[in-house]
Amino acid sequence: MINIPKGTKDVLPQDSYKWQYVESTAREVAALFNLKEIRTPTFEHTELFQRGVGDTTDIVTKEMYTFKDKGNRSITLKPEGTAGAVRSFIESGLAGGVLPAKMYYITPAFRYERPQAGRLREFHQFGVEIFGAKGAQTDAEAIVMADTLLKKLGLNVKLYINSIGCPTCRAAFNKALKEFFEPNLENLCYDCKARYGKNPLRLLDCKEENCKKINANAPSILDYLCEDCSAHFEELKTCLTLAGVEYEIDPRIVRGLDYYTRSVFEFVSTSIGAQGTVCAGGRYDGLIEELGGNPMPAVGFAAGIERLLIVMEQTGVEIPAPACPTVYIAGMDAECRKKAFSLAIALRAKGVFAEIDHMERSIKAQFKYADKLGAKYVAVIGGNELAEDRANVKCMATGESESVAFADMAAYFLTK
Ligand code: ATP
Ligand code: MG
Repeated sequence: MINIPKGTKDVLPQDSYKWQYVESTAREVAALFNLKEIRTPTFEHTELFQRGVGDTTDIVTKEMYTFKDKGNRSITLKPEGTAGAVRSFIESGLAGGVLPAKMYYITPAFRYERPQAGRLREFHQFGVEIFGAKGAQTDAEAIVMADTLLKKLGLNVKLYINSIGCPTCRAAFNKALKEFFEPNLENLCYDCKARYGKNPLRLLDCKEENCKKINANAPSILDYLCEDCSAHFEELKTCLTLAGVEYEIDPRIVRGLDYYTRSVFEFVSTSIGAQGTVCAGGRYDGLIEELGGNPMPAVGFAAGIERLLIVMEQTGVEIPAPACPTVYIAGMDAECRKKAFSLAIALRAKGVFAEIDHMERSIKAQFKYADKLGAKYVAVIGGNELAEDRANVKCMATGESESVAFADMAAYFLTK
């Protein structure tokens, strides 16, 4: 017996409707906001993520699934969706077309993490990217889109926003951060000691309890924003208020990826603990140029589908159950079963959800099975019915039966 790899999960047939519900709701919302789907490969050249996610991030330093292929190329399974979308946007020439370019994806992502509830090694994201627009109204639109989706899914979440400025304001802030952390350097975790030298902003994103405590008193980026970044953040707040979306400012949100500039945001569920961030995103004006395109602003977010489902489950959100068969056709003997088989095929061809026996069950067991399937009607074919080209159709809810000609069955069930 071979087991499933650690940190991965099966979606079983009886549960897949929940995934489909979240995915189709996400697609609906995306369409309302004029986004089209982009699909990029599951693996890319490793360098794309090294440059696009950033050399100092946990993702690149510790979490990537990287291997040499048989042609000795370094390949990495995508740990997130943005880098691939940006690569494709540039490579396809879309970056030279009509702007903004608004797109979304639903994709698996792979990170070698310590598996916990809501933290997997293969997980799935619904992600959104808007390329080409620099104003805060676009950041607000991305946030409103995420908010619309989360509300449609029945989730109770809190929105936290922050601005991490541009490279100019960040230089001053990084200096202030270094001064603040220096006396505490000894007490920081191993990773934070490295972050201190390479990218002090990352220190604010540490998940170690001790580091979190020290972080609580760190200086706020908001005191270091330049005039333009400050105005951009004000504009974001104005747009969110216009949209009627409530938010709280949390100056400690910096996001795990290196390419963010200005707006960053997280939607956090109030009902689950540690892995409560169901959706996160921000602006990344430096990324497209970093990946070889002409400089172009961009904003986006990604929501973790597993986490959405966990929160929905924990808060008792009802997901519409999949349809049950309209009719189960039961045959009494071998000849009647053959008729049930061909009738089911004819009915399905006309769009009727029909099921039959495949296990050579007795008629009694077939009724039991039909009931288990939730079939609305059972059409019984015995010797007499077969001779008359009719079936005895029983409504499972009322127990009432009537005789229906084979030729009339499609029309009969299409109205049920
Ligand atoms: P976290 O701080 O929880 O590690 P992150 O900052 O690494 O999250 P992002 O890279 O922004 O997360 O990914 C966007 C979303 O994808 C997260 O908000 C979360 O909902 C989901 N997500 C991220 N990593 C995982 C994982 N290992 N398993 C399941 N979902 C994940
Ligand atoms: Mg992470």
